[in-house]
Amino acid sequence: MPSYMKYYVNDTCIGCGLCASTCPEVFSIPNDVAVAIDADVPESSLDAAAQAQEGCPVGAIEQR
Ligand code: SF4
Repeated sequence: MPSYMKYYVNDTCIGCGLCASTCPEVFSIPNDVAVAIDADVPESSLDAAAQAQEGCPVGAIEQR
C-alpha cells in the first residue's frame, strides 16, 4: 500500500461518525458531514484509514 495515499469524502456522507471513530487521525466531522485531512495519510494510520473506508455504510470515502 503506497504511503502517499489521500482520501476524500464525497457528498453522499450521512455524517454517521464511524470513520472519525475508526480513524480520527484522518477523518473528522467538523459540521454535519465528515472530511478527510488534506494531506498524505501517515503510514501509521493507513490500516485504520482503509478500515474506515471499508466500514463507511454509504461508500462516501474515496481515494485520490
Ligand atoms: S463513515 Fe461514511 S457516512 Fe459515516 S461519517 Fe464517515 S464518510 Fe460519512
